[in-house]
Amino acid sequence: MTEPAKKLWRIEINEKLCKGCGICADFCPTNVLEMKGIIVGVVNLDKCTGCQLCDLRCPDFAIQVFPR
Ligand code: SF4
Ligand code: SF4
Repeated sequence: MTEPAKKLWRIEINEKLCKGCGICADFCPTNVLEMKGIIVGVVNLDKCTGCQLCDLRCPDFAIQVFPR
């Protein structure tokens, strides 16, 4: 039996809006995000489940998750 196709996600970070608080990285259940100095970075995109917790918790609307 073949595996169902894995749904893929795209994460957009608005560098002008991100203040580097780290909330999104703290809430991500699969450790997709990591702080890189004063901005958040995507380090593990394959692990993204599209739950959008990062998007919902960011106080500055700086991170968005879309289907690829
Ligand atoms: S929660 Fe928003 S402002 Fe804070 S680090 Fe993440 S993207 Fe940047
Ligand atoms: S959508 Fe969910 S799994 Fe993907 S980066 Fe955001 S919090 Fe993590």
